[in-house]
Amino acid sequence: MTLQQYVGTPASLPFELPDRVLINEVGPRDGFQLEQSIIPTKNKVEIVDALSRTGVAGVQVTSFVRPQAVPQLQDAEEVMAKITRQQGVEYAVLVPNAKGAQRALAHDADVWETMLSVSDSHSRANANRDTADALEDMRTVVGMADEAGVEIIGGMATALGCPFEGRISYERVSSVVAAYQDMGVRRVTAADTSGVADPAHVYGMSSRLRADFPEIRFALHLHDTRGLGLANVIAGMAAGIVDFDSSVGGLGGCPYAPGATGNISTEDLVHMLTLMGVQTGVELPALLAVSRDQVAGVVNHPLESALSRAEPSWVLHPAPVGQQLQG
Ligand code: ZN
Repeated sequence: MTLQQYVGTPASLPFELPDRVLINEVGPRDGFQLEQSIIPTKNKVEIVDALSRTGVAGVQVTSFVRPQAVPQLQDAEEVMAKITRQQGVEYAVLVPNAKGAQRALAHDADVWETMLSVSDSHSRANANRDTADALEDMRTVVGMADEAGVEIIGGMATALGCPFEGRISYERVSSVVAAYQDMGVRRVTAADTSGVADPAHVYGMSSRLRADFPEIRFALHLHDTRGLGLANVIAGMAAGIVDFDSSVGGLGGCPYAPGATGNISTEDLVHMLTLMGVQTGVELPALLAVSRDQVAGVVNHPLESALSRAEPSWVLHPAPVGQQLQG
């Protein structure tokens, strides 16, 4: 059965759904960085290239983090040099600090995604400094990006919850957005780094941020640790968010949150939005092929995505004939 036959016209929800959502694929960075087995550079390049042909709006290719801190991404330069860029796809790299920015300069990314934690304790654990110090360093990074003509996305780890401090106040989160805005940053991503947020919290935080910072384009970076990832997407869309990070196969995790699973999976996100009639531009069969044929083969564990186990909803199965399952 086709999708169209299966769905007909999707029913409307009691709030306005966006016509289109932009998906930023972060698996090659957020996912690969925590994998135990070293993934060969060649496979990374092939996976980034294949993902960028699926129709995603952007791909976060790698991170210019200290190689000693994240050995899995020590081939950042080589990956950036070897990928084949598709027209219309935004290629981003993670730039955690000024040193990373120095390395990123040579690689002509469309976007630098910065990273700092909104909570001091997570900031100290992750980057050995308070949020205020990280913001100070960010001024240098943003200055370098401006000079190089690279766009910045200001990342806010733990904005939707911290594994050490719990809920982070709106005042704290909005003060970081204000600091980014003051630097001239126009895109900001709020992250549920350890997958602790729920739809009510996501809706509340997102709608207040959008109301208070009308010039900022907000994105959500959600993890599915407690099974709330896609529900949080709905809450984000209800608040008017149309930019979402996700990772192929649901790769990812959080080094400080035991049991943390990965980002929301790109294939599950595309599948849900497709059923609801929200455009993503992503070809689901192509994406599933990358997930099943390329990604599953280079990680040493089963993928987290629901679609790695089940077919799309519109793939029907023959009803059993002549046998009954009882009891
Ligand atoms: Zn993440």
